[in-house]
Amino acid sequence: MQALRLWTVRHAGAVDASYRALQRVLDALRPLVRRIGFERVERPVAALERIVKGALFDCRMCGACVLSATGMACPMNCPKSMRNGPCGGVRSDGGCEVLPHMRCVWIEARRGASRMHARALPAQPNPPLEHQHAGRSSWLRVLRQHPWPPALVTEAPVHDEPVCGSRLEFLLRNRHFVVTSECSPPDSADATDVLTRTHHYAGWVDALNVTDAPGAHCHMSSLGVSLILQRAGFEPVMQMTCRDRNRIAIQGDILAAAALGIRHLLCLTGDGIANGDDPGAKPVFDLDAVSLLDTARRLRDDGLYRSGRRLTARPHLLLGAVENPFAPPYEERPLRLARKVAAGARFAQTQFCFDVPMLERYMAAVRAEGLHRRCAIIVGVGPLVSARGARWMREQVPGVHVPESLVARLERAIDPVAEGTRICVETIQHIRAIDGVAGVHLMAPKREHLIGPIVEASGVLAGRPAPVKPRGGASCPLLA
Ligand code: SF4
Repeated sequence: MQALRLWTVRHAGAVDASYRALQRVLDALRPLVRRIGFERVERPVAALERIVKGALFDCRMCGACVLSATGMACPMNCPKSMRNGPCGGVRSDGGCEVLPHMRCVWIEARRGASRMHARALPAQPNPPLEHQHAGRSSWLRVLRQHPWPPALVTEAPVHDEPVCGSRLEFLLRNRHFVVTSECSPPDSADATDVLTRTHHYAGWVDALNVTDAPGAHCHMSSLGVSLILQRAGFEPVMQMTCRDRNRIAIQGDILAAAALGIRHLLCLTGDGIANGDDPGAKPVFDLDAVSLLDTARRLRDDGLYRSGRRLTARPHLLLGAVENPFAPPYEERPLRLARKVAAGARFAQTQFCFDVPMLERYMAAVRAEGLHRRCAIIVGVGPLVSARGARWMREQVPGVHVPESLVARLERAIDPVAEGTRICVETIQHIRAIDGVAGVHLMAPKREHLIGPIVEASGVLAGRPAPVKPRGGASCPLLA
């Protein structure tokens, strides 16, 4: 089936032409089908469509076909059902993050689009599925001239005034180089377990990301941990993935987070379930990162749920996204960022940067599109502490690129931890000199004690307001 699917993408130009011819036939048949009745022909037409498109595209009959906008590669074959891909986990050989034996559907989509009339994937993002149409004929939907789901906004407004009033927003708006970091939620129901390691961040970072079941492993929820950190005096960036909740639960959680004082929301698609420790769980992926951003922006700017129902109070949230300049298809990455910026992202945190020249090329494309003026680019960094660990990351963590020269440098070092720390400091200093970069996102899981020394040695806090030093740990009022 996959071979036939790839054949179709290779011949996307011819398939597209046939599709346009089919459209003309359908237009001619419209009066006849209207006379017979659309509902009466639904079942036989849907059955025929299932057979034809199933063979050609491995079609899942989602009822909202977007093949002409995805290079004739059906996005429903993406294990994360991404309608605005690719995700950041594409492997260096183009393999899928979740199913390594399969080529990323969105790499195929790009290839197919290059053979079609427009020669490239459209900039306009695809809306999420309407599940009530699953199994129904998309051909008949065209014939009925039923509108497709409303398109996502093409350009979210850039606000002149602050949207959330947080300190992080103040620093970004005033072009101070920011430092963010992240903490992993514990496997515990005790708030002390969140706070015991926070002293490593106090006074060194402007905001702390709270991951949302990273790697598809269950932990304390990002909403709960964000609230604990916020009450302890930190500014949390609540991460929200699309993997575990549908749009109803997502919108409810966004409102709850804002009502509880959370000011930053980072929108991600999320890691595939198969990579977690409970692969039997149901992957939801009702939205993807782009449609999640659009949903949160509508709640904030329009005061509306996706359904169109009105809110009585809007959530005041600064919206962020993630991006990976270091995963293929490299030329597509600025376009993907542009889609997220259009959907409302005003800061973007990247995957680990271990290759500064690669980042420079990405930033040149970002600057050429003026994206850095609408969205603060915060580059991911972190210390590698051994050659073995660096190799493991390169081979086992999809989307992480570690150049061989760094591995060799760690291998030669007498003290690899000190050398890895030095490399991280040098990387931050190089990144800071790149035009358009707004800050660094320092990730040091299980090495949090290195955060302070790295930030201090990099000198990035000089000449700007110092990060606040909350009363974390045992002195936190939350634990009193
Ligand atoms: S790499 Fe990501 S975007 Fe591509 S098919 Fe796999 S899950 Fe989907």
